[in-house]
Amino acid sequence: MTAENREKYEKISRHFLEIIKALGLDLDDQNISDTHKRVARLYLEMFQGLEDGNEPHITTFPNKEKYSSMVFVKDIPFYSMCSHHFVPFYGKAHMGYIPKDRILGISKLARVLEFYAKRPQLQERLTEQCVGYLWNCLQPLGAIVVVEAHHLCMEMRGVKKPGSITITSAIRGCFEDKAVREEFLDLLDRPSW
Ligand SMILES: [Zn+2]
Repeated sequence: MTAENREKYEKISRHFLEIIKALGLDLDDQNISDTHKRVARLYLEMFQGLEDGNEPHITTFPNKEKYSSMVFVKDIPFYSMCSHHFVPFYGKAHMGYIPKDRILGISKLARVLEFYAKRPQLQERLTEQCVGYLWNCLQPLGAIVVVEAHHLCMEMRGVKKPGSITITSAIRGCFEDKAVREEFLDLLDRPSW
C-alpha cells in the first residue's frame, strides 16, 4: 500500500468506526469489531478509479484495412457506487465506435468502463466519460455508449422499484445521424448467441 493510500485507509477506518458507534452497534461482536477496517479496504479498492493520472493507457493501432463499419461490444458488466447514496449501482454497458484512422483492441473497452466505474459516480457521468474517452483517444467518425443499470438506492429504499432499469446513452460524431444510431440499436436488439 502506498503512503498516500495508507493515510486514506487510516482516515476512512477511523471515521467509519464513528458511524458504527453512532449506530449503537456492539463493538464486542466479532462480526462488527473489525468492520471499519474492512470497509476502508473495500473503499480503496472500489474507488481506485479516483487516482488521477491512472486512466488506462490504451494502445491504438492504425486502421490499415480502412475498416469503416461499426465496431461494438455489448453486455460489458460493471459495478459502481452511486455518489448520492454510496450504495452500488451495477449493470452492463454497450460501447461502440466507427473508426477513422485508429482502432483499438476491443477488450480495452472494458478497462475504460471499469476505470470510470471505480469511483463515486452518476450513471449519466459514467456514460459521458466513457464516450468522451473513446472520442478523444481514437478520434473516430463516431462513438456511442449505452449503460443499463440497477440502482440499489432505488430498489432498496424510497420509491422501492425492484427490477427497474435505468438506461443512459451518450453519442459523439456520426451517431448524431439517426440512421447510424438505428443500426447500432438493431445490433443491440439482436439476441446473443
Ligand atoms: Zn443513489
